Amino acid sequence: MQFSTLNLSKPILKVLEETGYQTPTPIQERAIPVILQKRDVLACAQTGTGKTASFSLPLIQFLSEDTARAAGPRALILAPTRELAIQIGDNISVYARLTPVKHTVVFGGVSINNQIMALRSRPAILVATPGRLLDLLNQRAVSLQDLRYLVLDEADRMLDMGFIKDIRKIMAVIPANRQTLLFSATMPKNIEDLAGSILKNPERIAV
Ligand code: AMP
Repeated sequence: MQFSTLNLSKPILKVLEETGYQTPTPIQERAIPVILQKRDVLACAQTGTGKTASFSLPLIQFLSEDTARAAGPRALILAPTRELAIQIGDNISVYARLTPVKHTVVFGGVSINNQIMALRSRPAILVATPGRLLDLLNQRAVSLQDLRYLVLDEADRMLDMGFIKDIRKIMAVIPANRQTLLFSATMPKNIEDLAGSILKNPERIAV
């Protein structure tokens, strides 16, 4: 299997080639075509499987073609920890470098002011930990009214860390008309319940 068979755009294929990725990983092979068809996805995948690229590449492709002015980000990626959020942001910097797609990463434990400033430049993709995103929403520093794509990464860890209430509050201000992708290393009942309430007819992928 080659990346060129997955319906990815030329700039993205070029970045993958330059980055030295030769073939898609199993999660990429299965998830990328489904996400590009605008389906919701419930994916069981561990860290190290290439899951970040499997959701980031289709989002970057969609957003490269979406130039309408928006009040806030078009895509939101929720992650449990600052470290994971930063890592996702670093990956997006690489994958989006031949496209006009901009992103910002926000997380707790640091001053909120620089993050408020960064949001003023209207990034298309926001990578966030749930608590800090709620703070930014409460301060009206960001609006999610124009969101089209939502990713929950390492959802089981987010629930283990007690973020379910924050996630519910965030879900309440996100448009229902969106594509949602849920990635989790394990599929306990609380994840199945969350998936049942936020995903629409998801394609289930396990690698
Ligand atoms: P992740 O599971 O998203 O944390 O990715 C694990 C590592 O695999 C990261 O360092 C990626 O840069 C790398 N990676 C992702 N996809 C590929 C691929 N198709 N070929 C080679 N390396 C990859």
